[in-house]
Parts: sequence; C-alpha cells; structure tokens
Amino acid sequence: MATELLRVNGISAGTEEKSILHSIDLSIGDGQAHVLMGPNGAGKSTLGRVIMGDPTYMITDGSLIFNGEDVTELAADKRSLAGIFLSYQAPVEVPGVPLYSFLRTITQMRPELKMTARQFRQRVGQISDQLELDQGFLMRELNVGFSGGEKKKVEMLQLLLLQPKLAILDETDSGLDIDALRIVSEGVNRYSAQGDRAVMLITHYTRILRYIEPTFVHVFVDGRIVDQGGRELADKLEAEGYEAYVKAASANA
Ligand code: ADP
Ligand code: MG
Repeated sequence: MATELLRVNGISAGTEEKSILHSIDLSIGDGQAHVLMGPNGAGKSTLGRVIMGDPTYMITDGSLIFNGEDVTELAADKRSLAGIFLSYQAPVEVPGVPLYSFLRTITQMRPELKMTARQFRQRVGQISDQLELDQGFLMRELNVGFSGGEKKKVEMLQLLLLQPKLAILDETDSGLDIDALRIVSEGVNRYSAQGDRAVMLITHYTRILRYIEPTFVHVFVDGRIVDQGGRELADKLEAEGYEAYVKAASANA
C-alpha cells in the first residue's frame, strides 16, 4: 500500500455565487499518478486550485490533509512550501521579470534546496537541456511572448527544479505538438521516478497516457467524481465520450 500523501475529504467548494465542487473524496498515495478526466466545466481546474489554496474559492465543507497535516485553512504560499505544486492551464505572463531571476527567487525561498549560484546555474542548464528548451529563454521575461508549448516547458522546468511532493498538472498536455508532448511527459516521469512523489494529471486526451502510466483514472462531471478505474477507463472515455455520464448526472440532478 502506498503511504497517503493527500486526502481530499468530502470537499465542497465554490465562489460566493456558485457552488462548484460537491463532496469530493480522493486519496492520493506516494508514487501514484491520478488522472482526472471530464467534460469542460466539470470542476477539474477548480479542484486543482482548491487543493493549491486559491483564495478565489471558498471551501464550504470537508478538509484537505496533506502529508498528515490539515492544510484546509493554510494559505497558498504555505502549501507551496509544504510541497504542493500546481501547473496552470494558462500560465501568466510576467513582464519585467526574467525567467532566470524568477527561478532563482522561488528556489531561494526553499531552505531544502540550498544551492550556490553556480550549482543553480548548472541545474537550470541541465533541466533546460532535458526539456530541449533553448537556454536563451532563461534571459527572457517570464512567459512573455512564449508559445503555448514553451510555457508548458517552463512549468515543467519549475517542477523539476522545485521537486514538490505533489504535482498537479492542469492540461499540461494541451496544445503541445507530439515532440513537446513526449518531452514534457518524460519530464513528468523523471519527476515521478524519484519515489515519494505523486502526480494529479488533469487532461482531456488519452494521448499523454501513452507516456505516463496512470494508477487511477477518475471521471469528473458536474463537480462530482462519477466513476473511477484504471487505464481501461481512459480508453473507454476516449472511445465513447462523456455523454452517458453527463446524462446520468442530469437525471440525478
Ligand atoms: P474544468 O476545469 O473541468 O473545465 P472549471 O473548474 O474550470 O472546469 O470550472 C467549473 C465550473 O465552475 C464552470 O462552470 C466555471 O464557469 C465555474 N467557475 C470556475 N471558476 C469560477 C470563478 N472564479 N467564478 C465563477 N465561476 C467559476
Ligand atoms: Mg480546466
């Protein structure tokens, strides 16, 4: 049995106006890769953001236990330091901040990642090479004018540098060409291979599952988990779509 890293315990959440997530239960263990699939608007990104501690969303019920600690009330920056990482569906552009300085700053905030300037430079260079990201990008302003694929590689660069315990990857595979998809997937696998790490992968497409072996697949509809299974469930979804689940959900509503 894998040691439990994250427990989502009956979480209901939403904004002031709208309740989005309804009694979500999920347990993610060390070494596992959980895949969340479901139609647009199902609440997948919201769950990722609620786990990360995005203040846009209010938790109205339930709790989040991370690494044995109740983090339900913890601010996002504290959760980040505790080892939760969220790769955004649409990474923000930050004019005026070179990628290299940004990476140096977020690394220096973590005492466990103590590196000299030289070690840092080598590490960043090594990861950039693995990701086939030209090192010229390091001096450019963070994400400004980067293509979709380049932004996703920069997210992966952060992941490989920070080595969080839980990586939530929100549609990291969307908009990638086949080479970039392989490179990014290899990055995820390189991260996972280090052992006591877990991945929550939000995706629309099974093509990334050619590279990443899912421990569990969860189907998300209307703010609820409506089915779970293994890789075969992802294949079934690819073949049949979500229609049967959506119909069942609206019949129950
Ligand atoms: P998914 O990632 O599964 O496509 P989201 O989690 O982005 O779905 O959205 C779930 C639902 O919650 C959608 O109907 C969306 O419009 C709504 N929603 C998400 N965030 C907000 C917000 N900040 N304000 C209002 N509605 C939101
Ligand atoms: Mg989304």
